[in-house]
Amino acid sequence: MMETQFKKTVDFIRELYNTPEAFIPLHEPRFVGNEKKYLIDAIDSTFVSSVGEYVNRFEEMMTQITGAKYAVAVVNGTAALHISLKLAGVQQGDEVLTQALSFVATPNAISYEKAIPHFIDVNEHTLGMGADALQTRLDQVAEMRDGVCWNKETNRKIAACVPMHTFGFPVEIEKIVAMCDSYNIPVVEDAAESLGSYVGEQHTGTFGLLGTVSLNGNKVVTSGGGGVILTNDKEIAERAKHLTTTAKVPHKWDYVHNELGYNYRMPNLNAALACAQLEQLDRYIGNKKETAQRYQAFFEKISGVDFIQKPAGSTPNYWLHAVQLENRAQRDKLLEYTNGEGVMTRPVWELLNRLPMYIDCPSGDLSVSSLLADTLVNITSSVRN
Ligand SMILES: *Cc1c(COP(=O)(O)O)cnc(C)c1O
Repeated sequence: MMETQFKKTVDFIRELYNTPEAFIPLHEPRFVGNEKKYLIDAIDSTFVSSVGEYVNRFEEMMTQITGAKYAVAVVNGTAALHISLKLAGVQQGDEVLTQALSFVATPNAISYEKAIPHFIDVNEHTLGMGADALQTRLDQVAEMRDGVCWNKETNRKIAACVPMHTFGFPVEIEKIVAMCDSYNIPVVEDAAESLGSYVGEQHTGTFGLLGTVSLNGNKVVTSGGGGVILTNDKEIAERAKHLTTTAKVPHKWDYVHNELGYNYRMPNLNAALACAQLEQLDRYIGNKKETAQRYQAFFEKISGVDFIQKPAGSTPNYWLHAVQLENRAQRDKLLEYTNGEGVMTRPVWELLNRLPMYIDCPSGDLSVSSLLADTLVNITSSVRN
């Protein structure tokens, strides 16, 4: 990629976002619907905290959008993952399979339960956990003992598997769930980035035993901060609600808590914002899809840069757009040029197995993750006006 192509790229993004000079962030939220109306309504009602009608309405909207039977609103996506892992049965000293290319919240949630992340390679097309990589790794280390899957190398139970739908592109979730079923490993889908992404007709986050969504400020829609636990299992949903609301036994005046609970309930103020944002979700995704098509057409003419396209058979939410460069040096040049010109771009996360907290964790071969970490760049992805 040459200097003139860097300039062309910046010019194209500035034109696409109709921003000739000002700084262009990677992904900024858009509030163009009922956000202010619902927020003022929540304030006027005095129900701004952990009880209120918007929380119920938000949960109802989430079940409608995702098709999950139950949705439990929580403070953020990390908390949603934490409680989901607990409910999947993860305990201290267990191992949890996840991908090396993800945001740090994924292994952190595993660590909150004092379990150990075990990193699996990603697929070069989905950018998420590879079904083949998972099978290869299970062939190497898995051993069934009385119907429970163990890592025979570390002598630890493999208690769950957490695939993540990177940038909103769905992983090979059907294959992964089928494989995990055959080893009795429950699947918790980290669908933090994939609200509005489908495999066939089914929403991501509803294939496993549990799924989690984030509504952080940088995600496709936002509640300021927020998360959701999705499940089709009534008992798990009830447990999720109980644990995230300080494990208080429902009663008109008594304050009795019957186990260790968490103050993870989404405040009504955030839920009000979330309801207004969800009303815009389809429109935002349509807008992002069109942006993806414009990028695709543009980068076809730029040698040495591939625009990442959606995996076959899936309908992504196009949360973050990404390009792939030929090597790390090229990647760094693009990052330097675009950021120097006021168009924010970003490399992907440092691989999780390279972070100090996770450097000693078990992992399979991670060559695709390494390649992607060296060559991917996220480019401007906000909804366009
Ligand atoms: C954003 C994100 C989370 C965490 O969500 P928060 O709401 O920020 O806590 C978890 N996993 C992934 C992959 C994410 O991108």
